[in-house]
Amino acid sequence: MDLKALFKISYGLYVVGAQQDGKLNGCIVNTVMQITAEPVKCVVVVSKESLTHDYIMASKTFSVSVLGQSAPMETIAHFGFNSGKKINKFRSFPHTLDKNGNPVLAKDTVVGLTCKVFETVDAGTHTLFMAEVEDCWEIGQDEPLTYDYYRNHKKGTTPKNAPSYNPSAYADQAGKYRCKVCGYVYDGDTPFEELPDSYICPVCKKPKSFFERIEE
Ligand code: FE
Repeated sequence: MDLKALFKISYGLYVVGAQQDGKLNGCIVNTVMQITAEPVKCVVVVSKESLTHDYIMASKTFSVSVLGQSAPMETIAHFGFNSGKKINKFRSFPHTLDKNGNPVLAKDTVVGLTCKVFETVDAGTHTLFMAEVEDCWEIGQDEPLTYDYYRNHKKGTTPKNAPSYNPSAYADQAGKYRCKVCGYVYDGDTPFEELPDSYICPVCKKPKSFFERIEE
């Protein structure tokens, strides 16, 4: 199987928001798809490891913020490479609440959706949440951010818990050091062992100890 072929499948980048007992969280997903028009229904795919997943399971509702093309890497890293189990992602990030109390980004996003789950499908590492779209509205005028643009123009990477994680992306980088959290590959002139212990990942801001050597 040629795993590189999978890079030709198109995706976007979205923040799925959820809440439980008023506690807010959100995570980046690449799979949001409208599945019917009348009524409007969609499906999102969320990693079982994420706190957002547990909140959606409990409340059976979620929001979607469609990220805009000019969203900075800091926003993507904030929601994509941090765990809500460790930090409160919405404490200082501008947001509004939809009618179900789920957080929607107030910047770096073009569209918000309010969704109510009617069916879940266990896909192993991930759960498919099928939902009726109760509301949708425009937030910004930017172009929506596609996964292709994120990879090729923003030089973004894919964490291991993303459904589109692809080990073949690292096939020609054996011996280099890769961030275990966000997939960033250190590619400098200095051998990694000689970098100061204060080195931090430029994408997800994790320390040097989160890097591992890519096997030959
Ligand atoms: Fe990283």
